[in-house]
Amino acid sequence: MRDDGDTTRAEGPSPNGFREGASGDRALPAVLQDPDEPFFWDHITPRTIDPARWATFQRYMAEILEEFGMDLDTPGTHRTPERFLRALFDSTSGYEGDANLLTAFPTECRGGPDCLLSQVIEGPIHFYALCEHHALPFFGVAHIGYVPHELIIGISKLTRLVRVFARRFTVQERMGVEIIDTLVRLLEPHGVAVHLAATHLCTQMRGVREDQSKTWTSFWRGSYESQPAMRDEFLQTVRVSRR
Ligand SMILES: [Zn+2]
Ligand SMILES: [Zn+2]
Repeated sequence: MRDDGDTTRAEGPSPNGFREGASGDRALPAVLQDPDEPFFWDHITPRTIDPARWATFQRYMAEILEEFGMDLDTPGTHRTPERFLRALFDSTSGYEGDANLLTAFPTECRGGPDCLLSQVIEGPIHFYALCEHHALPFFGVAHIGYVPHELIIGISKLTRLVRVFARRFTVQERMGVEIIDTLVRLLEPHGVAVHLAATHLCTQMRGVREDQSKTWTSFWRGSYESQPAMRDEFLQTVRVSRR
């Protein structure tokens, strides 16, 4: 489905907790007040797979690849079942979290009117994900816009955030919702926008779609929901950046 409309609206409940305009409250979000309070991706949870299970998986993969036509009896391919499984495992490391994600920096916003007018736009952030329907890659770029209240986050952390949700079996819609809702919880900003543009190999490799088609999805929270001009400015920047 090609979506040139730019505004595939994310479904689901709209989270609360936005700072709307003037506020004398200078308290940090609870998650940052207490360094021991874990964010759900703030602790690494390694997936440990028993060596005997790995061996079993490799036998299955060898069987499948061979049946599909691969000659496993060559120097280049005899370890392919093992390498394929390792690559798949590494490509889904997002399930393990990212211990380096939780860093935000205070800004000087005091809730004045100009606070609502200045958005920060970061991107393109390149990502690679696996579609949960076919376990084949979809990949593309993310752009993130937000209107900070008291906290900002660096581009390297935004990149980590995108990747922790991309390196899984997922779908583009869920990825966008996870990214945007995490930013809302982490930054407590006035608003957040996320735009994802991706090529899906599960359709393109099999010739269902025309070449080069992309799926675009946009997600809005807070001030972006109520201010069309802010959405326009964001999408305009995304278009220029993507060229
Ligand atoms: Zn698919
Ligand atoms: Zn503010």
